[in-house]
Amino acid sequence: MDKRVVKRVTPGDIVGVEEEFIPGYGAYIDEEGYIRSQLVGITQFDLVKRIISIKHVKDKPLTPKPGAIVEGIITGISDDLAFVNIYAINEKFSRSINFTGIIHVSQASNEYIKSLYEAFRLGEVIKAKVLNDYHPYQLTTREPGLGVIVAYCSRCGYPLYRKDDRLYCPRCDQYETRKISVFYLFRE
Ligand SMILES: [Zn+2]
Repeated sequence: MDKRVVKRVTPGDIVGVEEEFIPGYGAYIDEEGYIRSQLVGITQFDLVKRIISIKHVKDKPLTPKPGAIVEGIITGISDDLAFVNIYAINEKFSRSINFTGIIHVSQASNEYIKSLYEAFRLGEVIKAKVLNDYHPYQLTTREPGLGVIVAYCSRCGYPLYRKDDRLYCPRCDQYETRKISVFYLFRE
């Protein structure tokens, strides 16, 4: 094994032996002569001074946590269940954010609704709150800040804008019902 290979390590991992290296930053020797990491990071070698150290790596990929506010697009919908492609967590956008969320009809609104189509439609953009910490993420849009932030006319596809508590299509001159977030983007 090439001992100079850079490895990802976590605290306690063996990164070398006493005979070969001196522990540098982030490393220590245990009672048996193994050099171990104190940190989450990657191994670094100084082959001249024969020092092995650990470079701390901040590796916290953003994942949805209970209570987090996420944004996503409705990618599938039935009367009871909607699927959401989550692309932002707590206002942070990153290419690594790509999770599936699920909303059950009982979690869509504080008002009683019979079908999720009364709350959102395919392709619309919503803000939702995460309820659990495993995949697929259970979401709710019951609070006033949550719900659709972009919705489209079911007849012509034009973006709807908010007029009072409803959404309006100026082309079709018709109103539509959704679970509207107070952060809805288009206003009169
Ligand atoms: Zn329309």
